[in-house]
Amino acid sequence: MANEASDADQVELFDTHCHLDITAFDPDRDAAIARARAVGVVHFVNPAYDLDSSRRAVALAQAHPGIAAAVGVHPNDAADFGEAHLAELRTLARAPQVVAIGEIGLDYYRQTTPRDRQVQAFVAQLALARELNLPVIIHCRDAYDDALALLREHGHGLPGLVMHAFSGRMEHLRAALAMGFYIGVGGPVTYPNAHGLRDVVKAVPPERIVIETDSPYLAPQSQRGRRNEPAYVLEVAQKIGQLRGTSMRDIARITTDNGRRLFRLN
Ligand SMILES: [Zn+2]
Repeated sequence: MANEASDADQVELFDTHCHLDITAFDPDRDAAIARARAVGVVHFVNPAYDLDSSRRAVALAQAHPGIAAAVGVHPNDAADFGEAHLAELRTLARAPQVVAIGEIGLDYYRQTTPRDRQVQAFVAQLALARELNLPVIIHCRDAYDDALALLREHGHGLPGLVMHAFSGRMEHLRAALAMGFYIGVGGPVTYPNAHGLRDVVKAVPPERIVIETDSPYLAPQSQRGRRNEPAYVLEVAQKIGQLRGTSMRDIARITTDNGRRLFRLN
């Protein structure tokens, strides 16, 4: 393990998807950020799921160097999405710390928002991203066929796309890659039963893979059932390195470079 610790001293990691703004981090937000920095996390992207979290994400990014924000409305929070949402997102996105629109997409697993409302909010926010020339962070659960069809129709002209917490099948991976997507991989790749996801992770071209925690959700195996935090992106990188037969240092370098290119940092 001494070996891994010395690895960690030298790597630069990018947690491309963490919700540091939410209440789960109220007791120790700064400490959680410090723990992540201590294992090499140099960039964080904090996506939003509604207007309140969009405001919080921007404020957090303004207060912490290395943290960038995305603003957007999640499909599960899109029931009342309309012009007022678009107007505020447009205003918030003017902050230089905002690097993407997200997380947006479709979620047919939870049915809190009717599908037609999800589609309407998704398409409207894709148009907003194109108008603002911002990449998009896509959330997709049990809806890959519909999401990819909508993206084929409405996802052109965007400067970047990432499918976060990818959970689709190999055919969905091929379709997403053909559309120019980056593929976000997080804690689930460490779960013993994640055979399909591990096959996917081995098949993603190196220049298209990014890593994430989705903190406070989806903790990796060693922390499963507990609150996730950005420091654990190290465990994700280690697992991907094992699966792909690549050193942790190389995985860190590759995924951090990819994240910088996707979100146009540095
Ligand atoms: Zn998320």
